[in-house]
Amino acid sequence: MKTYHGLPASPGIVIAPAKRYIRTSLLDRVPEVCVVRDMSIEIETINHALANAKKYLDNMRNTYVEKDLVDALELIVENIVQEALDLVNAEKICSSLAIKKVYEKYAELLRSTGSQLFAVREADLRVAVEMLLSGIFTEEANLLPLDISGKIVISEELGITEFFELLRRGIKGLITSSGGVTSHVAIVARCNNIPYVITPSLDASSLKDETYVILDALNGLVIIEPDETTIKSYESKAENYWRTLEQIGKHAYEKAVTLDGYYVDVLCNVGNLEEARLASTLGCDGIGLFRIEFLYMKTKPPTTPELQEIFEKAASFFENKPVVIRAPDIGADKPVPYLSLREENPFMGLRGIRLLLEYREELFKPFIEAFLRAYKNHPNLKLLLPMVSRVSEVLETIELIKEVAGKLNIDISGLNLGIMVEVPSTALLLDKFAETGRIRFISYGTNDLTQYVLAVDRTNPKVGAIYDDLDPSVLRLLNLSMSTAIRNNLEVEVCGELASRQLAIPILLSLGVNALSVNYSVVGVVKYTIRGIHVGETKEHLIQYVLNSMSSQEVKETLKKYLLSKGLAVLG
Ligand code: PEP
Ligand code: MG
Repeated sequence: MKTYHGLPASPGIVIAPAKRYIRTSLLDRVPEVCVVRDMSIEIETINHALANAKKYLDNMRNTYVEKDLVDALELIVENIVQEALDLVNAEKICSSLAIKKVYEKYAELLRSTGSQLFAVREADLRVAVEMLLSGIFTEEANLLPLDISGKIVISEELGITEFFELLRRGIKGLITSSGGVTSHVAIVARCNNIPYVITPSLDASSLKDETYVILDALNGLVIIEPDETTIKSYESKAENYWRTLEQIGKHAYEKAVTLDGYYVDVLCNVGNLEEARLASTLGCDGIGLFRIEFLYMKTKPPTTPELQEIFEKAASFFENKPVVIRAPDIGADKPVPYLSLREENPFMGLRGIRLLLEYREELFKPFIEAFLRAYKNHPNLKLLLPMVSRVSEVLETIELIKEVAGKLNIDISGLNLGIMVEVPSTALLLDKFAETGRIRFISYGTNDLTQYVLAVDRTNPKVGAIYDDLDPSVLRLLNLSMSTAIRNNLEVEVCGELASRQLAIPILLSLGVNALSVNYSVVGVVKYTIRGIHVGETKEHLIQYVLNSMSSQEVKETLKKYLLSKGLAVLG
Protein backbone atom coordinates (compact mmCIF):
# COMPACT_ATOMS: atom_id res chain seq x y z
CA MET A 1 0.00 0.00 0.00
CA LYS A 2 1.37 3.41 -0.93
CA THR A 3 -0.21 6.83 -0.37
CA TYR A 4 0.40 9.89 -2.55
CA HIS A 5 -0.65 13.41 -1.65
CA GLY A 6 -2.12 15.71 -4.26
CA LEU A 7 -4.50 18.58 -4.82
CA PRO A 8 -8.20 17.83 -4.48
CA ALA A 9 -9.74 19.18 -7.69
CA SER A 10 -13.22 17.68 -7.45
CA PRO A 11 -14.55 16.19 -4.18
CA GLY A 12 -15.69 12.65 -3.52
CA ILE A 13 -14.38 9.22 -2.59
CA VAL A 14 -14.13 6.27 -4.92
CA ILE A 15 -12.53 2.83 -4.74
CA ALA A 16 -11.97 1.23 -8.14
CA PRO A 17 -9.41 -0.41 -10.44
CA ALA A 18 -7.06 1.99 -12.23
CA LYS A 19 -6.65 2.44 -15.96
CA ARG A 20 -3.65 4.30 -17.28
CA TYR A 21 -4.13 6.53 -20.24
CA ILE A 22 -0.78 7.06 -21.88
CA ARG A 23 -0.98 8.79 -25.20
CA THR A 24 0.59 7.06 -28.15
CA SER A 25 0.40 9.54 -30.91
CA LEU A 26 0.01 9.06 -34.65
CA LEU A 27 2.09 12.25 -34.87
CA ASP A 28 5.15 10.05 -34.16
CA ARG A 29 4.48 8.20 -37.42
CA VAL A 30 4.68 11.30 -39.58
CA PRO A 31 7.92 11.28 -41.63
CA GLU A 32 10.35 14.12 -40.95
CA VAL A 33 10.93 14.74 -44.65
CA CYS A 34 8.63 13.95 -47.52
CA VAL A 35 8.35 15.42 -50.97
CA VAL A 36 5.21 15.49 -53.05
CA ARG A 37 5.29 13.89 -56.46
CA ASP A 38 1.64 14.10 -57.38
CA MET A 39 -0.21 17.08 -55.95
CA SER A 40 -3.64 15.67 -56.74
CA ILE A 41 -2.93 12.61 -54.54
CA GLU A 42 -2.05 14.84 -51.58
CA ILE A 43 -5.19 16.91 -51.99
CA GLU A 44 -7.27 13.75 -52.16
CA THR A 45 -5.50 12.43 -49.04
CA ILE A 46 -6.26 15.57 -47.04
CA ASN A 47 -9.90 15.52 -48.13
CA HIS A 48 -10.12 11.91 -47.07
CA ALA A 49 -8.62 12.87 -43.67
CA LEU A 50 -11.19 15.64 -43.33
CA ALA A 51 -14.06 13.28 -44.13
CA ASN A 52 -12.72 10.83 -41.55
CA ALA A 53 -12.51 13.53 -38.88
CA LYS A 54 -16.06 14.70 -39.68
CA LYS A 55 -17.35 11.19 -39.20
CA TYR A 56 -15.71 11.04 -35.80
CA LEU A 57 -17.09 14.49 -34.91
CA ASP A 58 -20.63 13.49 -35.91
CA ASN A 59 -20.31 10.50 -33.65
CA MET A 60 -19.23 12.79 -30.79
CA ARG A 61 -22.06 15.21 -31.52
CA ASN A 62 -24.62 12.46 -31.22
CA THR A 63 -23.42 11.50 -27.78
CA TYR A 64 -22.06 14.67 -26.14
CA VAL A 65 -24.05 17.12 -24.12
CA GLU A 66 -21.59 19.85 -25.07
CA LYS A 67 -22.42 20.40 -28.71
CA ASP A 68 -20.69 23.81 -28.75
CA LEU A 69 -17.45 22.09 -27.92
CA VAL A 70 -17.73 19.68 -30.83
CA ASP A 71 -18.56 22.61 -33.14
CA ALA A 72 -15.40 24.37 -31.97
CA LEU A 73 -13.37 21.22 -32.54
CA GLU A 74 -14.79 20.97 -36.05
CA LEU A 75 -13.70 24.53 -36.77
CA ILE A 76 -10.21 23.69 -35.56
CA VAL A 77 -10.15 20.63 -37.83
CA GLU A 78 -11.25 22.75 -40.80
CA ASN A 79 -8.71 25.39 -39.97
CA ILE A 80 -5.89 22.85 -39.79
CA VAL A 81 -6.94 21.36 -43.12
CA GLN A 82 -7.03 24.77 -44.77
CA GLU A 83 -3.58 25.71 -43.51
CA ALA A 84 -2.19 22.26 -44.32
CA LEU A 85 -3.42 22.53 -47.92
CA ASP A 86 -1.67 25.91 -48.22
CA LEU A 87 1.55 24.33 -46.91
CA VAL A 88 1.30 21.37 -49.30
CA ASN A 89 1.02 23.83 -52.19
CA ALA A 90 3.68 26.24 -50.97
CA GLU A 91 6.33 23.81 -49.67
CA LYS A 92 5.50 20.73 -51.77
CA ILE A 93 5.45 18.52 -48.69
CA CYS A 94 3.15 15.58 -48.10
CA SER A 95 -0.16 16.02 -46.31
CA SER A 96 0.70 14.29 -43.00
CA LEU A 97 3.82 16.44 -42.57
CA ALA A 98 1.83 19.58 -43.42
CA ILE A 99 -0.77 18.68 -40.76
CA LYS A 100 1.97 18.05 -38.21
CA LYS A 101 3.56 21.43 -38.97
CA VAL A 102 0.26 23.25 -38.49
CA TYR A 103 -0.27 21.36 -35.22
CA GLU A 104 3.19 22.34 -33.95
CA LYS A 105 2.55 25.99 -34.73
CA TYR A 106 -0.70 26.14 -32.71
CA ALA A 107 0.52 23.86 -29.93
CA GLU A 108 3.43 26.22 -29.38
CA LEU A 109 1.04 29.18 -29.26
CA LEU A 110 -1.15 27.50 -26.65
CA ARG A 111 1.82 26.22 -24.64
CA SER A 112 3.39 29.65 -24.43
CA THR A 113 0.23 31.08 -22.90
CA GLY A 114 -0.52 28.22 -20.49
CA SER A 115 -4.29 28.65 -20.34
CA GLN A 116 -6.05 26.44 -17.81
CA LEU A 117 -9.64 27.44 -18.06
CA PHE A 118 -9.93 27.72 -21.75
CA ALA A 119 -12.05 25.02 -23.29
CA VAL A 120 -9.86 24.18 -26.25
CA ARG A 121 -6.31 23.50 -25.20
CA GLU A 122 -3.29 21.75 -26.59
CA ALA A 123 -4.78 18.38 -25.73
CA ASP A 124 -7.91 19.24 -27.71
CA LEU A 125 -5.84 20.41 -30.64
CA ARG A 126 -4.06 17.07 -30.53
CA VAL A 127 -7.40 15.25 -30.59
CA ALA A 128 -8.28 17.17 -33.78
CA VAL A 129 -4.96 16.27 -35.40
CA GLU A 130 -5.18 12.61 -34.41
CA MET A 131 -8.61 12.46 -36.03
CA LEU A 132 -7.14 13.75 -39.29
CA LEU A 133 -4.06 11.54 -39.18
CA SER A 134 -6.09 8.44 -38.46
CA GLY A 135 -7.77 9.05 -41.82
CA ILE A 136 -4.38 9.24 -43.53
CA PHE A 137 -2.83 6.23 -41.82
CA THR A 138 -6.17 4.44 -42.31
CA GLU A 139 -6.33 3.42 -38.69
CA GLU A 140 -8.73 3.97 -35.87
CA ALA A 141 -7.42 6.99 -33.97
CA ASN A 142 -5.87 5.83 -30.73
CA LEU A 143 -7.67 8.51 -28.78
CA LEU A 144 -8.81 6.92 -25.58
CA PRO A 145 -8.87 3.46 -24.05
CA LEU A 146 -12.21 1.70 -24.52
CA ASP A 147 -12.47 -0.38 -21.36
CA ILE A 148 -12.68 2.40 -18.79
CA SER A 149 -16.21 2.14 -17.51
CA GLY A 150 -16.16 2.05 -13.69
CA LYS A 151 -12.42 2.78 -13.54
CA ILE A 152 -10.22 5.52 -12.16
CA VAL A 153 -8.27 6.98 -15.08
CA ILE A 154 -4.65 8.00 -14.45
CA SER A 155 -3.14 10.30 -17.03
CA GLU A 156 -1.23 13.46 -17.88
CA GLU A 157 -3.27 16.62 -18.02
CA LEU A 158 -6.39 16.12 -20.14
CA GLY A 159 -8.11 18.30 -22.68
CA ILE A 160 -11.77 19.01 -22.13
CA THR A 161 -12.87 16.99 -25.17
CA GLU A 162 -10.92 13.99 -23.93
CA PHE A 163 -12.54 14.40 -20.54
CA PHE A 164 -16.03 14.48 -22.02
CA GLU A 165 -15.23 11.27 -23.87
CA LEU A 166 -14.11 9.70 -20.58
CA LEU A 167 -17.33 10.82 -18.91
CA ARG A 168 -19.35 9.33 -21.70
CA ARG A 169 -17.54 6.06 -21.25
CA GLY A 170 -18.40 5.96 -17.56
CA ILE A 171 -15.22 6.72 -15.61
CA LYS A 172 -15.49 6.77 -11.82
CA GLY A 173 -12.58 9.03 -10.93
CA LEU A 174 -9.62 10.91 -12.36
CA ILE A 175 -5.98 11.38 -11.36
CA THR A 176 -3.68 13.58 -13.42
CA SER A 177 -0.03 14.44 -12.99
CA SER A 178 -0.54 18.10 -13.88
CA GLY A 179 -3.32 20.66 -14.20
CA GLY A 180 -4.96 23.19 -11.94
CA VAL A 181 -7.92 23.10 -9.58
CA THR A 182 -9.62 25.92 -11.49
CA SER A 183 -9.13 24.29 -14.91
CA HIS A 184 -12.13 23.61 -17.12
CA VAL A 185 -11.69 19.85 -16.60
CA ALA A 186 -11.78 20.35 -12.81
CA ILE A 187 -14.92 22.47 -13.06
CA VAL A 188 -16.69 19.94 -15.30
CA ALA A 189 -15.58 17.11 -12.97
CA ARG A 190 -17.16 18.96 -10.04
CA CYS A 191 -20.38 19.50 -12.00
CA ASN A 192 -20.54 15.76 -12.73
CA ASN A 193 -19.50 14.53 -9.27
CA ILE A 194 -16.37 12.83 -10.58
CA PRO A 195 -13.70 12.76 -7.84
CA TYR A 196 -10.44 14.20 -9.20
CA VAL A 197 -6.98 14.65 -7.66
CA ILE A 198 -3.92 16.27 -9.25
CA THR A 199 -0.86 14.32 -8.10
CA PRO A 200 2.44 15.47 -9.66
CA SER A 201 4.43 12.95 -7.57
CA LEU A 202 2.66 9.85 -8.92
CA ASP A 203 4.48 8.17 -11.79
CA ALA A 204 1.67 6.58 -13.81
CA SER A 205 4.05 4.46 -15.87
CA SER A 206 5.05 2.53 -12.73
CA LEU A 207 1.46 1.35 -12.20
CA LYS A 208 -0.24 -1.68 -13.68
CA ASP A 209 -3.74 -1.47 -15.12
CA GLU A 210 -6.39 -2.92 -12.80
CA THR A 211 -4.35 -2.02 -9.69
CA TYR A 212 -6.81 -1.16 -6.93
CA VAL A 213 -6.86 2.51 -5.99
CA ILE A 214 -8.65 4.54 -3.33
CA LEU A 215 -9.19 8.07 -4.54
CA ASP A 216 -9.95 10.28 -1.56
CA ALA A 217 -10.60 13.56 -3.31
CA LEU A 218 -11.89 15.14 -0.11
CA ASN A 219 -8.38 15.10 1.30
CA GLY A 220 -6.33 14.90 -1.92
CA LEU A 221 -5.11 11.34 -1.29
CA VAL A 222 -4.35 8.58 -3.77
CA ILE A 223 -3.87 5.21 -2.09
CA ILE A 224 -2.41 2.53 -4.35
CA GLU A 225 -3.01 -1.16 -3.53
CA PRO A 226 -4.73 -0.46 -0.21
CA ASP A 227 -4.87 -3.21 2.44
CA GLU A 228 -8.11 -4.84 3.54
CA THR A 229 -8.58 -2.67 6.65
CA THR A 230 -8.10 0.58 4.67
CA ILE A 231 -10.53 -0.61 1.98
CA LYS A 232 -13.13 -1.48 4.63
CA SER A 233 -12.87 1.90 6.34
CA TYR A 234 -12.99 3.76 3.02
CA GLU A 235 -15.96 1.73 1.80
CA SER A 236 -18.03 3.03 4.68
CA LYS A 237 -16.66 6.59 4.28
CA ALA A 238 -17.52 6.53 0.57
CA GLU A 239 -20.99 5.17 1.17
CA ASN A 240 -21.65 7.77 3.82
CA TYR A 241 -20.36 10.58 1.56
CA TRP A 242 -22.48 9.72 -1.49
CA ARG A 243 -25.59 9.01 0.59
CA THR A 244 -25.29 12.36 2.40
CA LEU A 245 -24.66 14.14 -0.90
CA GLU A 246 -27.80 12.63 -2.35
CA GLN A 247 -29.92 13.58 0.66
CA ILE A 248 -28.54 17.10 0.75
CA GLY A 249 -29.05 17.46 -3.01
CA LYS A 250 -32.79 17.46 -2.38
CA HIS A 251 -32.48 20.89 -0.75
CA ALA A 252 -31.62 22.45 -4.13
CA TYR A 253 -35.22 23.47 -4.77
CA GLU A 254 -35.76 25.17 -1.41
CA LYS A 255 -35.19 28.83 -0.63
CA ALA A 256 -31.76 29.72 0.71
CA VAL A 257 -32.73 31.40 4.00
CA THR A 258 -30.65 31.22 7.17
CA LEU A 259 -32.07 30.31 10.59
CA ASP A 260 -32.35 34.03 11.35
CA GLY A 261 -34.11 34.91 8.09
CA TYR A 262 -31.20 36.18 5.94
CA TYR A 263 -31.94 35.43 2.27
CA VAL A 264 -29.26 34.75 -0.34
CA ASP A 265 -29.64 34.07 -4.06
CA VAL A 266 -27.89 30.88 -5.09
CA LEU A 267 -26.97 31.39 -8.75
CA CYS A 268 -24.99 29.13 -11.08
CA ASN A 269 -21.83 29.42 -13.15
CA VAL A 270 -22.20 28.16 -16.71
CA GLY A 271 -20.03 28.00 -19.80
CA ASN A 272 -22.54 27.34 -22.57
CA LEU A 273 -26.25 27.17 -23.36
CA GLU A 274 -26.57 23.49 -22.51
CA GLU A 275 -25.30 24.16 -19.01
CA ALA A 276 -27.59 27.19 -18.70
CA ARG A 277 -30.58 25.05 -19.62
CA LEU A 278 -29.51 22.33 -17.20
CA ALA A 279 -28.92 24.88 -14.41
CA SER A 280 -32.46 26.21 -14.87
CA THR A 281 -33.83 22.77 -13.94
CA LEU A 282 -31.55 22.22 -10.94
CA GLY A 283 -32.75 24.80 -8.45
CA CYS A 284 -30.47 27.72 -9.44
CA ASP A 285 -31.96 31.14 -8.69
CA GLY A 286 -30.42 32.50 -11.90
CA ILE A 287 -27.04 32.63 -13.60
CA GLY A 288 -24.33 34.53 -11.76
CA LEU A 289 -21.58 33.96 -14.31
CA PHE A 290 -21.93 33.02 -17.97
CA ARG A 291 -18.37 32.50 -19.21
CA ILE A 292 -18.51 33.19 -22.96
CA GLU A 293 -14.78 33.06 -23.81
CA PHE A 294 -15.26 29.70 -25.41
CA LEU A 295 -17.34 31.21 -28.20
CA TYR A 296 -14.30 33.24 -29.21
CA MET A 297 -11.93 30.27 -29.53
CA LYS A 298 -12.64 29.77 -33.18
CA THR A 299 -11.09 30.92 -36.40
CA LYS A 300 -12.92 34.23 -36.04
CA PRO A 301 -14.97 35.93 -33.32
CA PRO A 302 -18.70 35.12 -33.09
CA THR A 303 -20.99 37.43 -35.03
CA THR A 304 -23.30 39.88 -33.27
CA PRO A 305 -26.47 37.93 -34.22
CA GLU A 306 -24.88 34.68 -32.97
CA LEU A 307 -24.08 36.24 -29.62
CA GLN A 308 -27.48 37.92 -29.35
CA GLU A 309 -29.25 34.62 -29.93
CA ILE A 310 -27.22 32.88 -27.23
CA PHE A 311 -27.83 35.66 -24.68
CA GLU A 312 -31.56 35.71 -25.43
CA LYS A 313 -31.86 31.96 -25.08
CA ALA A 314 -29.99 31.98 -21.76
CA ALA A 315 -32.21 34.81 -20.50
CA SER A 316 -35.36 32.98 -21.53
CA PHE A 317 -34.40 29.87 -19.53
CA PHE A 318 -34.66 31.99 -16.38
CA GLU A 319 -37.46 34.46 -17.23
CA ASN A 320 -37.53 36.97 -14.33
CA LYS A 321 -34.41 35.71 -12.62
CA PRO A 322 -31.02 37.36 -13.14
CA VAL A 323 -28.68 36.14 -15.89
CA VAL A 324 -25.21 37.66 -15.69
CA ILE A 325 -23.31 37.71 -18.97
CA ARG A 326 -19.60 38.31 -18.51
CA ALA A 327 -17.92 40.21 -21.34
CA PRO A 328 -15.37 37.86 -22.92
CA ASP A 329 -12.44 37.36 -20.58
CA ILE A 330 -10.07 36.51 -23.38
CA GLY A 331 -6.50 37.59 -23.59
CA ALA A 332 -3.11 36.30 -22.92
CA ASP A 333 -4.05 33.35 -20.73
CA LYS A 334 -7.06 32.42 -22.87
CA PRO A 335 -5.65 32.85 -26.37
CA VAL A 336 -7.66 33.18 -29.55
CA PRO A 337 -6.10 32.21 -32.87
CA TYR A 338 -6.85 35.52 -34.62
CA LEU A 339 -4.97 37.70 -32.10
CA SER A 340 -1.34 36.74 -31.87
CA LEU A 341 -0.56 37.79 -28.33
CA ARG A 342 2.76 36.72 -26.96
CA GLU A 343 3.63 37.92 -23.52
CA GLU A 344 6.29 37.02 -20.99
CA ASN A 345 3.86 37.17 -18.12
CA PRO A 346 0.36 36.71 -19.49
CA PHE A 347 -1.47 36.70 -16.14
CA MET A 348 -0.28 40.25 -15.62
CA GLY A 349 -0.80 41.13 -19.26
CA LEU A 350 -3.39 42.15 -21.77
CA ARG A 351 -6.45 40.26 -20.57
CA GLY A 352 -10.11 40.87 -19.76
CA ILE A 353 -11.24 44.47 -19.96
CA ARG A 354 -7.74 45.67 -20.94
CA LEU A 355 -7.85 43.57 -24.08
CA LEU A 356 -11.45 44.48 -24.86
CA LEU A 357 -10.61 48.18 -24.76
CA GLU A 358 -7.52 47.61 -26.91
CA TYR A 359 -9.61 45.76 -29.51
CA ARG A 360 -12.74 47.83 -29.04
CA GLU A 361 -13.75 48.01 -32.70
CA GLU A 362 -13.08 44.38 -33.50
CA LEU A 363 -14.32 42.74 -30.31
CA PHE A 364 -15.83 44.97 -27.66
CA LYS A 365 -18.35 47.01 -29.65
CA PRO A 366 -19.84 43.97 -31.46
CA PHE A 367 -20.19 42.25 -28.09
CA ILE A 368 -21.85 45.32 -26.52
CA GLU A 369 -24.24 45.58 -29.46
CA ALA A 370 -25.24 41.91 -29.12
CA PHE A 371 -25.70 42.30 -25.37
CA LEU A 372 -27.80 45.47 -25.66
CA ARG A 373 -30.02 44.03 -28.40
CA ALA A 374 -30.67 40.97 -26.21
CA TYR A 375 -31.11 43.14 -23.10
CA LYS A 376 -33.79 45.20 -24.85
CA ASN A 377 -35.91 42.03 -25.11
CA HIS A 378 -34.79 40.51 -21.79
CA PRO A 379 -34.19 43.04 -19.01
CA ASN A 380 -33.18 40.21 -16.65
CA LEU A 381 -29.77 40.23 -18.38
CA LYS A 382 -26.95 41.82 -16.38
CA LEU A 383 -23.54 42.78 -17.73
CA LEU A 384 -20.29 41.93 -15.93
CA LEU A 385 -16.83 43.28 -16.82
CA PRO A 386 -13.83 40.94 -16.29
CA MET A 387 -10.36 41.67 -14.88
CA VAL A 388 -11.05 45.29 -14.06
CA SER A 389 -8.11 46.92 -12.30
CA ARG A 390 -8.64 50.70 -12.76
CA VAL A 391 -11.63 53.05 -12.52
CA SER A 392 -10.80 54.53 -15.93
CA GLU A 393 -11.56 51.17 -17.56
CA VAL A 394 -15.12 51.39 -16.29
CA LEU A 395 -15.49 55.01 -17.41
CA GLU A 396 -14.26 54.16 -20.90
CA THR A 397 -16.57 51.17 -21.07
CA ILE A 398 -19.55 53.28 -20.07
CA GLU A 399 -18.78 55.70 -22.90
CA LEU A 400 -18.70 52.80 -25.35
CA ILE A 401 -21.98 51.40 -24.03
CA LYS A 402 -23.58 54.85 -24.38
CA GLU A 403 -22.27 55.21 -27.92
CA VAL A 404 -23.60 51.80 -29.03
CA ALA A 405 -26.91 52.24 -27.17
CA GLY A 406 -27.35 55.67 -28.78
CA LYS A 407 -26.93 54.21 -32.27
CA LEU A 408 -29.40 51.43 -31.50
CA ASN A 409 -31.77 53.74 -29.68
CA ILE A 410 -31.85 51.49 -26.61
CA ASP A 411 -32.61 52.92 -23.17
CA ILE A 412 -29.84 51.91 -20.77
CA SER A 413 -31.00 53.79 -17.69
CA GLY A 414 -32.00 50.50 -16.04
CA LEU A 415 -28.93 48.57 -17.16
CA ASN A 416 -27.48 46.45 -14.38
CA LEU A 417 -23.73 46.83 -14.83
CA GLY A 418 -21.19 45.13 -12.59
CA ILE A 419 -17.47 44.51 -12.31
CA MET A 420 -15.49 41.45 -11.36
CA VAL A 421 -13.31 41.98 -8.31
CA GLU A 422 -10.32 39.82 -9.19
CA VAL A 423 -7.41 42.21 -8.75
CA PRO A 424 -6.36 43.65 -5.35
CA SER A 425 -6.35 47.22 -6.74
CA THR A 426 -10.06 46.92 -7.50
CA ALA A 427 -10.83 45.32 -4.13
CA LEU A 428 -9.16 48.29 -2.44
CA LEU A 429 -10.81 51.02 -4.52
CA LEU A 430 -14.46 50.02 -4.49
CA ASP A 431 -15.60 53.37 -3.07
CA LYS A 432 -14.06 55.06 -6.11
CA PHE A 433 -15.68 52.60 -8.49
CA ALA A 434 -19.00 53.25 -6.76
CA GLU A 435 -18.51 57.01 -7.24
CA THR A 436 -18.86 56.57 -11.00
CA GLY A 437 -22.55 56.04 -10.22
CA ARG A 438 -22.80 53.46 -12.98
CA ILE A 439 -22.03 50.22 -11.22
CA ARG A 440 -24.78 48.38 -9.40
CA PHE A 441 -23.07 45.18 -8.44
CA ILE A 442 -19.70 43.56 -7.95
CA SER A 443 -18.79 39.91 -8.28
CA TYR A 444 -15.71 38.52 -6.56
CA GLY A 445 -13.66 36.33 -8.87
CA THR A 446 -11.85 34.61 -6.06
CA ASN A 447 -9.95 32.27 -8.39
CA ASP A 448 -7.94 35.15 -9.78
CA LEU A 449 -8.09 37.25 -6.63
CA THR A 450 -6.45 34.41 -4.68
CA GLN A 451 -3.61 34.07 -7.18
CA TYR A 452 -2.92 37.81 -7.13
CA VAL A 453 -3.14 38.12 -3.33
CA LEU A 454 -0.92 35.10 -2.65
CA ALA A 455 1.34 35.51 -5.71
CA VAL A 456 0.56 31.91 -6.70
CA ASP A 457 -0.07 31.01 -10.31
CA ARG A 458 -3.45 29.24 -10.20
CA THR A 459 -2.37 26.88 -12.98
CA ASN A 460 0.94 25.74 -11.53
CA PRO A 461 0.72 22.49 -9.53
CA LYS A 462 4.23 23.08 -8.10
CA VAL A 463 2.80 25.85 -5.94
CA GLY A 464 -0.71 24.38 -5.86
CA ALA A 465 -0.48 23.58 -2.16
CA ILE A 466 -0.06 27.29 -1.38
CA TYR A 467 -3.09 28.23 -3.48
CA ASP A 468 -6.01 28.36 -1.06
CA ASP A 469 -8.95 30.73 -1.34
CA LEU A 470 -9.60 30.23 2.39
CA ASP A 471 -6.26 31.78 3.26
CA PRO A 472 -6.76 34.42 5.99
CA SER A 473 -5.14 37.07 3.75
CA VAL A 474 -7.80 36.50 1.06
CA LEU A 475 -10.55 36.58 3.69
CA ARG A 476 -9.20 39.80 5.20
CA LEU A 477 -9.21 41.47 1.79
CA LEU A 478 -12.77 40.27 1.21
CA ASN A 479 -13.79 41.66 4.60
CA LEU A 480 -12.17 45.03 3.97
CA SER A 481 -13.49 45.45 0.50
CA MET A 482 -17.00 44.03 1.01
CA SER A 483 -17.66 46.44 3.86
CA THR A 484 -16.76 49.33 1.52
CA ALA A 485 -18.99 47.88 -1.19
CA ILE A 486 -21.94 47.54 1.17
CA ARG A 487 -21.45 51.08 2.55
CA ASN A 488 -21.61 52.28 -1.04
CA ASN A 489 -24.80 50.36 -1.80
CA LEU A 490 -23.23 47.94 -4.23
CA GLU A 491 -24.85 44.53 -4.47
CA VAL A 492 -22.28 41.87 -3.62
CA GLU A 493 -21.90 38.53 -5.36
CA VAL A 494 -19.16 35.90 -5.30
CA CYS A 495 -18.71 33.78 -8.44
CA GLY A 496 -15.23 32.29 -7.90
CA GLU A 497 -14.87 28.70 -6.73
CA LEU A 498 -14.85 29.89 -3.11
CA ALA A 499 -18.63 30.33 -3.34
CA SER A 500 -18.98 26.59 -4.05
CA ARG A 501 -17.02 25.60 -0.93
CA GLN A 502 -19.30 24.53 1.89
CA LEU A 503 -16.83 25.69 4.54
CA ALA A 504 -16.76 29.22 3.12
CA ILE A 505 -20.51 29.80 3.38
CA PRO A 506 -20.72 31.03 7.02
CA ILE A 507 -17.90 33.49 6.31
CA LEU A 508 -19.30 34.83 3.04
CA LEU A 509 -22.72 35.32 4.61
CA SER A 510 -21.22 37.07 7.65
CA LEU A 511 -19.38 39.44 5.33
CA GLY A 512 -22.71 40.39 3.75
CA VAL A 513 -22.95 38.74 0.31
CA ASN A 514 -26.28 39.00 -1.49
CA ALA A 515 -25.67 36.17 -3.94
CA LEU A 516 -23.40 33.19 -4.38
CA SER A 517 -22.78 31.86 -7.87
CA VAL A 518 -21.79 28.22 -7.70
CA ASN A 519 -21.26 25.06 -9.75
CA TYR A 520 -24.69 23.60 -10.38
CA SER A 521 -23.77 20.26 -8.79
CA VAL A 522 -23.44 21.93 -5.36
CA VAL A 523 -26.64 24.03 -5.32
CA GLY A 524 -28.20 21.53 -2.89
CA VAL A 525 -25.18 21.52 -0.55
CA VAL A 526 -24.98 25.32 -0.59
CA LYS A 527 -28.69 25.82 0.16
CA TYR A 528 -28.67 23.11 2.83
CA THR A 529 -25.74 24.83 4.55
CA ILE A 530 -27.28 28.31 4.33
CA ARG A 531 -30.50 26.96 5.87
CA GLY A 532 -28.56 25.51 8.82
CA ILE A 533 -26.61 28.57 9.95
CA HIS A 534 -27.36 31.71 11.91
CA VAL A 535 -25.75 34.85 10.48
CA GLY A 536 -26.19 36.97 13.61
CA GLU A 537 -24.25 34.34 15.51
CA THR A 538 -21.45 33.98 12.94
CA LYS A 539 -21.01 37.76 12.83
CA GLU A 540 -20.72 37.92 16.58
CA HIS A 541 -18.58 34.88 17.34
CA LEU A 542 -17.00 33.41 14.24
CA ILE A 543 -15.81 36.07 11.85
CA GLN A 544 -13.20 37.82 13.99
CA TYR A 545 -11.82 34.49 15.11
CA VAL A 546 -11.43 33.34 11.50
CA LEU A 547 -9.87 36.62 10.34
CA ASN A 548 -7.28 36.31 13.09
CA SER A 549 -6.17 32.85 12.01
CA MET A 550 -2.56 32.11 11.12
CA SER A 551 -3.25 29.83 8.18
CA SER A 552 -5.90 28.42 5.88
CA GLN A 553 -5.62 25.17 7.85
CA GLU A 554 -6.67 26.94 11.02
CA VAL A 555 -9.51 28.70 9.14
CA LYS A 556 -10.79 25.38 7.85
CA GLU A 557 -10.66 23.69 11.25
CA THR A 558 -12.65 26.52 12.84
CA LEU A 559 -15.26 26.54 10.09
CA LYS A 560 -15.65 22.79 10.16
CA LYS A 561 -16.21 22.86 13.92
CA TYR A 562 -18.81 25.59 13.51
CA LEU A 563 -20.79 23.68 10.86
CA LEU A 564 -20.68 20.50 12.94
CA SER A 565 -21.87 22.45 16.00
CA LYS A 566 -24.95 23.41 13.95
CA GLY A 567 -25.63 19.73 13.34
CA LEU A 568 -24.73 20.00 9.65
CA ALA A 569 -23.05 17.24 7.65
CA VAL A 570 -19.68 18.48 6.41
CA LEU A 571 -18.77 17.19 2.98
CA GLY A 572 -15.17 18.22 2.58
C1 PEP B 1 -12.44 34.02 -11.01
O1 PEP B 1 -11.33 34.46 -11.33
O2 PEP B 1 -12.76 33.70 -9.84
C2 PEP B 1 -13.47 33.84 -12.05
C3 PEP B 1 -14.70 33.49 -11.73
O3 PEP B 1 -13.07 33.99 -13.33
P1 PEP B 1 -12.30 32.83 -14.17
O4 PEP B 1 -12.20 31.64 -13.26
O5 PEP B 1 -13.12 32.63 -15.38
O6 PEP B 1 -10.98 33.48 -14.43
MG1 MG C 1 -11.07 35.29 -13.34
